[in-house]
Order: sequence, then structure tokens, then C-alpha cells
Amino acid sequence: KNDQLDQWDRENFFHPSTHLAQFARGEAPNRIVSKADGVFIEDRDGNRLLDGFAGLYCVNVGYGRQEIAEAIAEQARELAYYHAYVGHGTEASITLSKMILDRAPKGMSKVYFGLGGSDANETNVKLIWYYNNILGRPEKKKIISRWRGYHGSGLVTGSLTGLELFHKKFDLPIAQVKHTIAPDYFRREDRSMSEDDFSTHCANELEALIQREGPDTIAAFIGEPMLGTGGIVPPPAGYWEKIQAVLQRHDILLVADEVVTGFGRLGTMFGSDHYGIKPDLITIAKGLTSAYAPLSGSIVGEKMWKVLEQGTDENGPIGHGWTYSAHPIGAAAGVANLKLLDDLNLVQNAGEVGSYLNDKMRDALADHPHVGDVRGEGMWCAVEFVEDKANRKFYAPYGKVGAQVAAAMLAQGKVIARSMPQADMLGFAPPFCLTKAEADTIVDATRRAVTSVLG
Ligand code: PLP
Repeated sequence: KNDQLDQWDRENFFHPSTHLAQFARGEAPNRIVSKADGVFIEDRDGNRLLDGFAGLYCVNVGYGRQEIAEAIAEQARELAYYHAYVGHGTEASITLSKMILDRAPKGMSKVYFGLGGSDANETNVKLIWYYNNILGRPEKKKIISRWRGYHGSGLVTGSLTGLELFHKKFDLPIAQVKHTIAPDYFRREDRSMSEDDFSTHCANELEALIQREGPDTIAAFIGEPMLGTGGIVPPPAGYWEKIQAVLQRHDILLVADEVVTGFGRLGTMFGSDHYGIKPDLITIAKGLTSAYAPLSGSIVGEKMWKVLEQGTDENGPIGHGWTYSAHPIGAAAGVANLKLLDDLNLVQNAGEVGSYLNDKMRDALADHPHVGDVRGEGMWCAVEFVEDKANRKFYAPYGKVGAQVAAAMLAQGKVIARSMPQADMLGFAPPFCLTKAEADTIVDATRRAVTSVLG
């Protein structure tokens, strides 16, 4: 054991999404993770923890899959790298593009590969702008996303992200990005509304925003099929149908950000299939390789592809590429990962064990006086806490109670839940190989931690 690691960590390592000042003072948690298998991770102090969040909801097939490790090693030995520019490719990247399109919703045409979800959404915005420029409508450039949507943390993608933390002190959002309301039924202002009424309200709000900005200035709408980082919120009934009707009326493209929902999290291959979404672009990352190697993609629909392809006849090669686009090692990991999903029926398991987890969580906690909402879909679940249930009064300032319950789960139950900073809640997104017994462990640890913190 290297006893200097803690010190080196504090002295040298700039941790992303971390309270830097607290970390430097030794107040923020730090954990040096050394190995993992199945749904468990181990740190170098010997703690073995059930990872109820699959890393950052990405290690979907579970840890320690030798098939993927072997595929990566073999690719590295054979051909660690070659680029994909000017028509080059590798067996792995071409095979993976075929496998993705075989699984994608109908009407999709090509895959552009990147490295992570943020750069894939950056690619999407560039392709949307390029598309509208080729069509001779340079004023149609604004992108609408939702408050509490998460689409990455770059300059454009951090703007699309509808969370204040990603804007403040960064001078974001940029002018071309506008936000509309989140489809969060639990937080609806008018509590007499049915889910369907609330979906109509969301569509009306979108229509009003489009009218205010001018329909001819709006290029696209981006949304996660089910809100993730902004609170793990399934859409209310009828939401996507009503939103798509508005978009079609104004010739606005639809980007389904499936970075989390893509490849099975909802128990279907894509969230778009789950909710009847017909996107023009789909963002994929995380579950594409189960995070065994960084790889993302923009799946481009036929309508856009035809225009992009023709546009290059006049404009020359498309001026968009990363050195690591379609990196062979990422692609080899992707091929092995998608095979494993099929061979082990993991998407089906995500649906079945995910429903079991959601049902058990609801049974265990829905009646607790400080649990305001238990919600989820597929292998995805959230528990939200409130100070006063009858009046749906949230804790103020928010965030502390959720963090306390998550800390208690870790200490008592050795289970990792994610406390989301913008609310008092716990999020669960375990690997798809979770068993019912492991789901019971998660629910039991949650119930005990909630009782110990909130009575
Ligand atoms: N889009 C969604 C829906 C996400 O959940 C995330 C990350 O959590 C991203 C995009 C950004 O992906 P990355 O962190 O790989 O850049």
C-alpha cells in the first residue's frame, strides 16, 4: 500500500465536480477505489460497497467483465490506434456502428463517434447548425432544453444543462440556448392537475417560449427521455406525444439525449422506444461501453443525414473531427459490451429486477412521513424527502437531509446511493446484473438509513 497516495491526491489531483475548498481542508470525502466485481467496488482501506449507482450510471453490465477486458487487450495488441478521418476506419469501429444501428429506433442513419456525452452533444449542436446553414436558414439556430436537464458541462453543453451550478460564475448559458420547464409532476404548482393536464401545460409552456423567441429562430429541442441528473423523474403521461406535436408544427429538430437511457436502463434498448419518441438525433455514451473505455456517439437520423451528405458536395469535407473519434479500443469495448448485453439478457433483467427494486422501495418507504415521492422506471429509482408531506414542503436549505441519509447508508449498510445536490433525494441506478437479493439489500439499507436520520 502506498501511504503517500492520500497526500498526493490532496496536493496534485484536481477532482471534477468537487467542492475544492472543502476537499483541500480534508472535509470532503475521499475514497481511493482499487478494484471491483459484479455490483461491488472495493477501496484501498478494504471497504466493500454495493454500488447502487453503477459508477455514474454507466457500468451497466457490472464490474470485472473479462470478455470486455480481453477485447480491449486484444485490440491494443493488434491496433491500438488509427484515426477515422477521410474515410478511414477499423474493424471494431465499423462493426460497432452496424451493431448500434441494428439496435437503434427506426429512421436512424449513421453514427458519429466521440468520447463522452458532453462532446457528443457538442457534435449534435454543430450538426444542427451546419444542417440549417446548408438549408439556407442561418437564423434558425436556437436550441431549447429543459430546466434540470443534464447534457454535459462544456460551454455549449453546460448551457444546455439546466442546472444553475453549471452556469453560475461561468457566464452561461450562451445566448443561443433557451430553457423551458421540467416535466416534474411531483413539483407541479397546481396540485389539482392530472398527469395529462400537466403534460399539456408543459407543451403549452414550450409553445409560448417558441412564440416569444420566434419559431423561425428555433432549430432544435433536446431532452433526456427521462430526466436524470436533474432528479430521476419519469415524464408524466402523454408528455412526449404533446411535446413532439409542438416541435413538428414548427419544424424543430428533436435530440433525444440517451446517454443514460441508451442500451437498456429503462428495460428497453432505448428510452425513445420506451416513450414513443421519434428523434432526429440520439446522444449515446455511458452504456455504449459500460464505461470500460470512453466512447460516445451521435446517431444521426435520415432526414438530417441526407442534407449533411449533400452539403459537403458544395462545402468540402465536414469541418468536425476529434483525434479520438471512433477510437479502436473504445469501439472494441463497445462491441464486447453490446454482445454481453445480448448474451446475458441484461436489458430484460434491467426491466425485471428494476421493477422489483422500484416496487420494494415503494412498499418500504412510500408511507414514511418524510418521504414525499418514490419514483422510477426500469433499473432507475429515486426517493425524495420532504419536511412536511401533506403540504409538500421541501427542506430549506435543500440538500442536507439527502446527503445525511446517503452517508448513513454508506456507513451502516455499505451501499452507495447518490444524493443529488439540487434536492433532498437519493438516486439508484445499479448495474443491470443486479439480483433480487441485492435489490433487497439496497432497499433494506435505505429503510434503515431513513429511519436512523428521519425517525
Ligand atoms: N447527457 C446526459 C443525459 C448525461 O447524464 C451526461 C452525464 O451524466 C452527459 C450527457 C454528459 O456525459 P459526459 O459526462 O460523458 O460528458
